[in-house]
Amino acid sequence: RDASQMPQRFLFYKPYMSNGIADRILIEQELHKALANEEFYLDFQPQVNLKTSKIESVEALVRWRHPTRGFVSPELFIPIAEESGLIIPLGKWILETACVQAKTWEKQGLPPMKVAVNLSLGQLFQQDLVQMVQEILQRTNLEPKYLQLEITESMTMNIDQMTQLLHELKAIGIQIAVDDFGTGYSSLSYLKDFPIDCLKIDRAFVRNIQHNQNDEALVSMILSMAKHLRLKVVAEGIEEVEQLAFLIEGDCDYIQGYLFSKPISAEQIANNYKDLHNRASDILTGMKYEE
Ligand code: C2E
Ligand code: MG
Ligand code: MG
Ligand code: MG
Repeated sequence: RDASQMPQRFLFYKPYMSNGIADRILIEQELHKALANEEFYLDFQPQVNLKTSKIESVEALVRWRHPTRGFVSPELFIPIAEESGLIIPLGKWILETACVQAKTWEKQGLPPMKVAVNLSLGQLFQQDLVQMVQEILQRTNLEPKYLQLEITESMTMNIDQMTQLLHELKAIGIQIAVDDFGTGYSSLSYLKDFPIDCLKIDRAFVRNIQHNQNDEALVSMILSMAKHLRLKVVAEGIEEVEQLAFLIEGDCDYIQGYLFSKPISAEQIANNYKDLHNRASDILTGMKYEE
């Protein structure tokens, strides 16, 4: 078979494939241009402290505004960036932009807020990751305690390597959170070895919490386990007061979800800080009266 038949074969099979593969190759090419063309930006989603109703941290979430496709979800392009290696320069840009922003809010006189930044698996294998984080903190003049890096359980790395890496990151003075906690298949034993500060309960567990006793049991278990391990807990994807009530009952520390705020721009965080805080305060006060 000569190579000239390949495109034909491709065309022949195309109707039977979701046009996924062709699209994926195109997106990969476009991703490479997107950094230089400044098509990426960050939104930030508040995390509310349930005890104080203050926004003590925000999660940075990358956004891609494609010139013709419009908004492309990170769920789609992060894996492609990961496979193509673009995650290294993109991840660096995300980290630096998030730290610059945290410093900008500080200069604008906002109350101190930690910024949480998602790491990708590829970045964990980046030889100079620790040095890069250190340099970005120095360059942006952000105190390390205001940076939290989020890793996930599905980041398959040798346990010893991971433990060592996390200790090096912790030595800088930053915080470490485990994102999407409970959705990976990893054993729980890493929790005693990894120097982590925080668990983020995945939205999948919280979504049906009012209707599903198994979800309820799992979330309660995670909350009590975290307490024994002296880890903070952030519950993600809270949309309804009933979910919030359950988490307050279980003594959860922080809430992140549409109920309080969707991810919003850095300017919206700065301009609406008081409103966001008042909103959280109102919701939480309302809850306490109901008790
Ligand atoms: P994640 O890190 O678990 O981020 C939380 C996701 O849940 C965000 O989706 C956020 O918008 C969404 N979310 C928060 N509250 C609610 C809620 O109440 N209801 C619903 N339905 N959704 C809620 P987003 O921004 O689309 O990001 C999806 C995933 O893409 C992230 O999950 C993360 O894995 C990845 N991602 C996003 N930004 C970055 C980044 O800067 N770097 C890396 N490496 N990955 C990123
Ligand atoms: Mg995250
Ligand atoms: Mg998550
Ligand atoms: Mg997720």
